[in-house]
Amino acid sequence: MESNDLKKLIAKDILPQTQNWSGTERFLMAIVDLLLRYIKEENDRSSKILEFHHPAEMLKLVDLSIPDQPESLEKLVKDCEKVLRYGVKTGHPRFFNQISCGLDLVSMAGEWLTATCNTNMFTYEISPVFILMEKEVLRKMWECIGWDTEKSDGIFAPGGAVANLYAMNAARHSMFPRSKHLGMKDVPTLCAFTSEDSHYSIKSAAAVCGIGTDNCFNIQTDSTGRMIPEALEKKICECKKEGMAPLFVCCTAGTTVYGAWDPIDKIADICERHRIWLHVDAAWGGGLLLSPEYRYKLAGIERANSVTWNPHKLMGALLQCSACLFRQDGLLFQCNQMSADYLFMQDKPYDVSYDTGDKAIQCGRHNDVFKLWIMWKSKVCNELLTKFDRFSSE
Ligand SMILES: *Cc1c(COP(=O)(O)O)cnc(C)c1O
Repeated sequence: MESNDLKKLIAKDILPQTQNWSGTERFLMAIVDLLLRYIKEENDRSSKILEFHHPAEMLKLVDLSIPDQPESLEKLVKDCEKVLRYGVKTGHPRFFNQISCGLDLVSMAGEWLTATCNTNMFTYEISPVFILMEKEVLRKMWECIGWDTEKSDGIFAPGGAVANLYAMNAARHSMFPRSKHLGMKDVPTLCAFTSEDSHYSIKSAAAVCGIGTDNCFNIQTDSTGRMIPEALEKKICECKKEGMAPLFVCCTAGTTVYGAWDPIDKIADICERHRIWLHVDAAWGGGLLLSPEYRYKLAGIERANSVTWNPHKLMGALLQCSACLFRQDGLLFQCNQMSADYLFMQDKPYDVSYDTGDKAIQCGRHNDVFKLWIMWKSKVCNELLTKFDRFSSE
């Protein structure tokens, strides 16, 4: 008889090393049981959000060492219990720091399923269903923005900061496509513009894209934290006079600290006049596109060339879930494609544009769409604004 006593079992006694299904099941059920208890306790308003300990003390409470000999499965479960106990309960009804909080259980179920499928978003052949699922969810997001779904593009990225980088890099490519191959040698001094209250990742993208943080100008905001369009246009004109090439304007829809909404329509007029790429950083505020009542705060977003939208913030999808969306299809491939022939062979039995890995600046890409797809399917649109529900129920 095979044992299912977790005290006596170690990892090599269960699947796939042995066929001991009852031991395997016992281990996984112990973990599931732990998770269920965690979720139940986390949702209890009278429980603590955090039991704080200083680092040295914490190291005594939780055994974080990697031992020389394998630990029993029972010990692993006990270790995990402690790890959960001393962490921050981000799904606690009274937890509001940071911008992603709450635990949407349907989205979490998607994340559990994602972990078990354990695949990569390189190509259609390794991820047939998820590649199509990603396209379907992107289509929904383009619709929410108001773009032509036959002509738009997008990619899920590891966070809004990286999504902003995708946008700036694509903007540079659309204006100076040769820089992909030649670097910045023939390119004039580029500059970018963003409000003084915008997210720091815009400056970081400017550093990475060879624009330079000093050439990424902070535009003044009004007393409510919105970018002042006249100040933007004045700065653009000054830069042009100095011989610089204005490339990119970032309009923030929901600033990270104040939750201010830059006037997109007015800024879009300026970008059209000066032929500058308009990016809307709606990492935080994108969720309001689903609200008939508050959508007006993003009026004009359909005029943007690119949009960053983090469903892991206002919409309540699990971390990490972030998309960079483009009004023009094809640009991401042109800009990021490296055609590595061990992965992205051109002679496959399907349309190779499904091999989305070649539009990414990453190689492997985590599946961040399953948890969003299943959550979105489970609700009517404005129910997805969990963060608003949470505030109003407090
Ligand atoms: C949170 C935020 C970001 C960064 O998103 P991450 O997913 O944390 O990388 C960018 N812009 C704005 C406006 C944000 O609020």
